[in-house]
Amino acid sequence: MSKKVRVRFAPSPTGPLHIGGVRTALFNYLFAKKHGGDFVLRIEDTDQNRYVEGAEDYIVESLNWCGISFDEGPNKNEKFGPYRQSERKDLYKQYADELVASGNAYYAFDTAEQLDAERKGHEEKGKTFIYNWHNRERGRLVNSLVLTEAETKAKIDAGEDFVIRFKSPQDETLHLTDIIRGNMKIDTNVLDDKVLFKSDGMPTYHLANIVDDHLMEITHVIRGEEWLPSLALHQLLYNAFGWEAPEFAHLPLILKPTGKGKLSKRDGDKMGFPVFPLQYMSPQGTDHSIGYKEEGYFPEAVVNFLAFLGWNPGTEQEIFSLEQLVADFDLARVNKAGARFDPDKTKWFNHHYMQQQLDLDLAEQFKAIRPELSNIDVNYIALVVGLIKERATFVNDFWDLSHFFFTAPTAYDEKASKKALKEGTADVMTKVIELVNTTDDFTVENLQTNIKGWITDNEIGFGKVMMPLRLALVGALQGPDVFDIMYMIGKTETVSRIENLINQI
Ligand code: GLU
Repeated sequence: MSKKVRVRFAPSPTGPLHIGGVRTALFNYLFAKKHGGDFVLRIEDTDQNRYVEGAEDYIVESLNWCGISFDEGPNKNEKFGPYRQSERKDLYKQYADELVASGNAYYAFDTAEQLDAERKGHEEKGKTFIYNWHNRERGRLVNSLVLTEAETKAKIDAGEDFVIRFKSPQDETLHLTDIIRGNMKIDTNVLDDKVLFKSDGMPTYHLANIVDDHLMEITHVIRGEEWLPSLALHQLLYNAFGWEAPEFAHLPLILKPTGKGKLSKRDGDKMGFPVFPLQYMSPQGTDHSIGYKEEGYFPEAVVNFLAFLGWNPGTEQEIFSLEQLVADFDLARVNKAGARFDPDKTKWFNHHYMQQQLDLDLAEQFKAIRPELSNIDVNYIALVVGLIKERATFVNDFWDLSHFFFTAPTAYDEKASKKALKEGTADVMTKVIELVNTTDDFTVENLQTNIKGWITDNEIGFGKVMMPLRLALVGALQGPDVFDIMYMIGKTETVSRIENLINQI
């Protein structure tokens, strides 16, 4: 590649960014960084009807949280700016005019009612109405191809509403290339004459997108499969302007966990997993969605699972940091076929990244979400975390796994009690108290030697001692090693908990 690689992520701020959008951003970022190129964020906000307040901030915050940093974008290194299309508004008209002048586009004055009538008329005959070579010059449609130049000018001067449409070529075969999908052939007769510009002074997505990709010197367009049908028009626009087109790569769809159909917000709602990176509240406060961040996912886990939605390294390796992804990413290893979303796998990744975190960092996070821990030394919490994190997927799981390190049981699990409490348990526990009290150097090893030694010497079943002991400490037959728990809560608390149990028998 001779030219400097430049890619862009070009979301429309119409609501929260779906994880599919984050995946598109990620693949663009990986490709750019792999090739020493630039990653640009461009906000495509030409459709004012769909604009949602706050959506741009949400996009930027989501990318920041994931660590997908852009080199240029709104308020950042604006050498090709502005990066919001609404702020580039005045730029597009001249390009639309240029296409009209070169015969590649034309003015159309058809009203919404007229077009509706055409559509209905076609439907009644079992046909579909497409505005293109087939009918654009037949006289029923009102455009500058059938009107004289003077008539066209008069309409525009009189302030009539118009659009500028692209004049799709007739009887041509268009050859398209996509890095992921290979070569495709399109018969231009099936294309419609898409609107490029409207009399409200706004370009449509198609015109603004091509003009900006050209002006921003984008070399590779990496975007979702839903834009593949627009590729023919985009290629024709590049041809019409006489510009070199970028290379294209259309990423595969992200499919529902069942593998059938596109992943939607509803799938997440039904199965209880997020489809957005961050939680989202619509400006009216009516639409609330959960996010990966607030559900307790680590950004590393999200990035890792997103990378595997459509890409794989061709090896067994599944754990990739962002840096490793940059090193190994290759568009040639992105599939055409849709990528099935697996919510269990996202948890698997989170569990993995949980184990990588420092216990002290996790302890800070744990402390922040549990008021019970506000007065407890974070170093103690970190020791607890070290003992339980292997069984946790989220920091949110910690309390259930560890509350007994901080507070004595207030009740004993019924089933566990039945299993653990037998005749003679009180006597056995009284003896354990004695052993605990006489263990002067209160270490895990000493406790183990003393208690296990006593059990073996007296040929008592292990369960007869260890089960009620665990019940006394935890309130259930769960948790990490009993001797670890005793050591952590200390001698006085250990004795007090065993006494509590004896009193309840
Ligand atoms: N604004 C489009 C979107 O919302 C961008 C599509 C493209 O990348 O060309 O996805």
